[in-house]
Amino acid sequence: LVSRKWRVRPTVLDLGDGVRIGEGSLTLAAGPCSIESEKQMELIMQHLVDNDVRIMRGGVFKPRSSPYAFRGLGMEGLKDFHRMARERGIKIVTEVMQVSQVEEMHDYVDVFQVGARNTQNFNLLDALGGVDKPVMIKRGISGTLEELLSSAEYVFSGGNEKLILCERGIRTFETASRNTLDLNAVPILKEKTHLPVIVDPSHGIGIREYVPTMALAGVMAGADGIIYEAHEKPEEAASDGAQTLNFQESERLIRNLRKVYQLR
Ligand code: PEP
Ligand code: MN
Repeated sequence: LVSRKWRVRPTVLDLGDGVRIGEGSLTLAAGPCSIESEKQMELIMQHLVDNDVRIMRGGVFKPRSSPYAFRGLGMEGLKDFHRMARERGIKIVTEVMQVSQVEEMHDYVDVFQVGARNTQNFNLLDALGGVDKPVMIKRGISGTLEELLSSAEYVFSGGNEKLILCERGIRTFETASRNTLDLNAVPILKEKTHLPVIVDPSHGIGIREYVPTMALAGVMAGADGIIYEAHEKPEEAASDGAQTLNFQESERLIRNLRKVYQLR
């Protein structure tokens, strides 16, 4: 069902208020790795509004490698996130980690994010197949593109056709970067499926200085959008600070992404 053979016309998702994802527009989503406080959200949302970025990312349930690391503000944080975003006309993409969260999060998100560690959580995918909200599925840490498409098939066949695929880098033998951003995925996925493809250069390379370069490369490779981490003080971020852009870097990237998209 997610194949181009089944549907030739590219899928375009409408999040409302003129926010679209898919062919014909460049989707930008930025924000912190983790939602940390109302003050932080206020600053980041202002940065997004100033730059006409309509979608904010940010986790409230965080899949951390260490159980002692910051694991997010949870539902209370999401409710604040939602209220503040609504007041400013911003849409929300945030990670759902387990089946039990789908229902409680439902009314407070615009796009459910399935994280790389949950790409093959088939119960979660089944549950998301039953909701009427877009789902962005990230590629598994060591997942093939076929596996990513198979995960998308779970959601689609469950009845939810509002899907977005996200290339976020895979684990390879290379240690110079956090992950290896596989830009090959973009033209391959665009050819194989009718779904929008978004690139996450932050997790893809994991090094702040190189994030803009890889973001621009993602757009040139044919991505429908870019999702990246931005924070008012990346050095103090509760998670992923080393791959997070400050506002100045973010603003410059947004300008350049729009230029490059015009060139494509
Ligand atoms: C994130 O988006 O902050 C995240 C945890 O991403 P991934 O699942 O790709 O590691
Ligand atoms: Mn992160």
